[in-house]
Amino acid sequence: MCKWGDTKILYLDGKNRVIDKCLYKFIKMLNDNGFETKSHCCGHGGPRGSILLKDGRAIIFVNSDDDIFPFWSKKKELERQGKKP
Ligand SMILES: [Zn+2]
Repeated sequence: MCKWGDTKILYLDGKNRVIDKCLYKFIKMLNDNGFETKSHCCGHGGPRGSILLKDGRAIIFVNSDDDIFPFWSKKKELERQGKKP
């Protein structure tokens, strides 16, 4: 994951789009293969990120430090509640 503002420009649909640097290759690959993207955010260090497709579907991904299920690991949930894990 990259920090806020760490971006690259990708030319899509006749416009220059600002793409999170860490997702650039993935966003380009999706669009090059017919999965048109509408918006995205890598999460910038948060637990989740997402890529929204123009057809209404979304790709949701989680920080690999967390368990895949549940989306929010017990450790992170305790941290969020201000308790020590
Ligand atoms: Zn990123």
